[in-house]
Amino acid sequence: MTEDDLATRKMQFLYALRSRGVTDKRVLGAMEAIDRGPFVTGLFAERAYEDMPLPIPCGQTISQPSVVGLMTQALNVSPRDKVLEIGTGSGYQAAILAKLARRVYTIDRHRRLVHEARAIFDALDLHTITAITGDGSHGLPDQAPFDRIIVTAAAEDPPGPLLAQLKVGGIMVLPVGQSDTVQSLIRVNKTETGLEYDELRDVRFVPLLEGLGKE
Ligand code: SAH
Repeated sequence: MTEDDLATRKMQFLYALRSRGVTDKRVLGAMEAIDRGPFVTGLFAERAYEDMPLPIPCGQTISQPSVVGLMTQALNVSPRDKVLEIGTGSGYQAAILAKLARRVYTIDRHRRLVHEARAIFDALDLHTITAITGDGSHGLPDQAPFDRIIVTAAAEDPPGPLLAQLKVGGIMVLPVGQSDTVQSLIRVNKTETGLEYDELRDVRFVPLLEGLGKE
């Protein structure tokens, strides 16, 4: 690909985000700053600037960019926030969060994905991200509470430990529903008086699984 082609593809990429409802300037700025290219390797590398989910190692997927944008927008991250992400995958979502938040913790059950994501974070000088191998449905009690929590794999219900590790005034965004069917992307606001739920749109994510992956 020539430099001109690349520049055109990146412009189309941002245009697709806007036309699908990603309008928050800070989110668009972060998505312009973080090139999706390095997070997609192998056969699908050429398609990094298309608004499509793509396969990554360990049988997982990097999410569709417009869904990443809409989730990030719904999370309403501020520069003072400490954010927890469950489902590192390629590391793309975590890298975008790092442009918007003070600190990002990201957990994946696949060791290989965590190692590969760490290498990209280092190469991009994203030193405010800590990537950890583990079962994210337990959250990260050592670093709790969090201002924002984002889950990028679908559970039937919001995991209790994650709700418990969200600050009062905090926001959690996650897909819920049975795996292999359409799920709902929801936003949970934790207030002084309890939890408020909003349904944002239909989505389709890989399932949130228990325990560690094989590689
Ligand atoms: N946010 C990613 C896409 C994630 S795909 C990106 O930007 O590329 C969903 C990820 O969730 C997969 O990598 C899968 O391994 C992980 N996952 C599924 N169940 C998990 C669990 N219980 N704990 C941590 N990670 C989990």
